[in-house]
Amino acid sequence: MADPALLAGILGFAGGGAIAAVVALKWQARRLARACELALDDATDPAVLPVGIAGLVADRRLTVQNTRRDASLGARIAEERSLRFARMLDALEDAVIVLDSTGEVLERNQVARTLEIDGERRDPRRLDSTIPSPPAVREILDLARGLRDADPSAVRRTTFRLVRDVSGDGEERDFEASIRRIDDTGRCVVVLHETTRERENARVRSEFVAQASHELRTPLSSIRATLEMLEEGELDDPEVQSEMLAIASEEADRLARLVDDMLDISRIEAGVARPTIERVDLGVLAVEVVEGLQAAAERRDLRLEVRVESDGLVVEGDRAMLATVIGNLVGNAVKYVPEGERIAVDVAAEDLTRSVVLTVTDTGLGIPPEDLPRIFEKFYRVRRYERRARGTGLGLDLCRNIIEQVHRGRIGVDSTLGEGARFWFGVPASHASSVAA
Ligand code: ATP
Ligand code: MG
Repeated sequence: MADPALLAGILGFAGGGAIAAVVALKWQARRLARACELALDDATDPAVLPVGIAGLVADRRLTVQNTRRDASLGARIAEERSLRFARMLDALEDAVIVLDSTGEVLERNQVARTLEIDGERRDPRRLDSTIPSPPAVREILDLARGLRDADPSAVRRTTFRLVRDVSGDGEERDFEASIRRIDDTGRCVVVLHETTRERENARVRSEFVAQASHELRTPLSSIRATLEMLEEGELDDPEVQSEMLAIASEEADRLARLVDDMLDISRIEAGVARPTIERVDLGVLAVEVVEGLQAAAERRDLRLEVRVESDGLVVEGDRAMLATVIGNLVGNAVKYVPEGERIAVDVAAEDLTRSVVLTVTDTGLGIPPEDLPRIFEKFYRVRRYERRARGTGLGLDLCRNIIEQVHRGRIGVDSTLGEGARFWFGVPASHASSVAA
């Protein structure tokens, strides 16, 4: 509905100009337009307007509408842009926080929002709501303040740790904060990069070095002791001497194997292993490897047999590496299965996954359920079997690396304590294999 008072105002304002419409309205157009803008929403009935004015108002209405459309288009574009920008920020893996010159939070992305301690409703404009660590907040704000007079390209960095006690698990997360000034008003962007995984990797690496050094020291000490005894003439008896030398030589072999395993594992893990990929018949390879272990099995009165489902169970792989895997799995069974038991190696096609699967099943002790999830870890050995056979616990980790990393296959174990174990691995079949394509 038209507001009569407002309309009268517009008409009164335009009245003088209506007589000399062409001249007067040219310079009055701006002011008129502004007045029209105010009244147009209501001035919908042209009948109430004098004819000249009605035409003029109609024109202005069009202009104003266009202007409004342009303005709303501009606003929409700006809104769209800022939405896209917000989405981009939210897609980042790092937390991003924009601070004004007083240290108040102007913007923060999704990751930054998740740092807040759950359930704590706090003022999002305060940095300590996002970073629940008062010392870290103090340092970041200090660094941001220090940037005001610094070179625009200057960056300040700091690290901090967030400890979460809310869930009671005391989870620790490490962050590296970098702070940069973004304009002359003193606004800063703070980027928080989480370094928890890097810390964990460094811990795993240093644990590996510690465990490896420990394992290397045992055979070394034994060799050194034999050499000392020889040097000091304590091994006069030729029989004792040759016995000690045999032990030392066995230890030297063990040392060499250990170093080889560690090198192989770290090469594969670092992605610098250079496998020689060729067509390998897993059935034929299994027969070859098992043949080499028959003597050891016989010494322990174990029945060791291979059953190959069909000819042509071919995969693309590194022959020596696959032989290492089979040797390790069968070798473990030969080592840990009690005398008189049975070990069966089966090689068969698995049509569903188009792979060739090799299984080593034994009727031995099985793996305790608490050890099962960790059995493929480096240096992990079942404590209660340690005295049954020597080993370093690297074999299965190497197998896993060879199958999963080099051959893109799968490896696993099923076992019930007291009923034996079934270790298996599957590798994609070669196109020309007898596995159904
Ligand atoms: P390495 O292979 O480095 O000489 P290892 O044989 O002890 O040493 P893995 O091959 O990694 O190490 O095996 C890890 C552990 O898994 C073994 O120490 C043993 O406790 C257990 N294990 C492996 N195979 C069997 C099996 N068939 N039956 C019972 N326990 C087994
Ligand atoms: Mg082993």
